[in-house]
Amino acid sequence: MRLLLTRELGRLAKWLRILGLDTVYFKEQNVSSLIIEALRQERIIITRNHHLPRSCGARIVVINAERLNAQLAEVLKRLQIKPVSDMMFTRCTLCNEPLTAIQKENAKDKVPAYVFAAQERFFACPQCSRIYWQGSHWGNVREILNKINS
Ligand SMILES: [Zn+2]
Repeated sequence: MRLLLTRELGRLAKWLRILGLDTVYFKEQNVSSLIIEALRQERIIITRNHHLPRSCGARIVVINAERLNAQLAEVLKRLQIKPVSDMMFTRCTLCNEPLTAIQKENAKDKVPAYVFAAQERFFACPQCSRIYWQGSHWGNVREILNKINS
């Protein structure tokens, strides 16, 4: 499932990427280019904007929730997505690029020493070179998902 989020949903975009969903964050205000982008890339538009043209051809999901947790829950429910832990942390939260596993040795000077000592598996974004590991984020994600599922 490919998603396109409008500019007011930046934090939500990051979280959907953490869950492993292919999520483009569209920062421009221009509605025509938003719709063209969605149609061209076959993405579902996720927005809080009630005024997007319904008949534009792209699927539009209008989110009513205001808080991040509730927004995340609403998107997952409306699109009938069940978060799977295998999919989490497979995408860069900044670029949306799928991450690739790297040798531990290659992460050495790029992460804090305590992280390097404690973690065995590291991943890198091919676009921005940011390094990821299943560390502190993991607890937060579990917590948020528990809240959503409860
Ligand atoms: Zn990146």
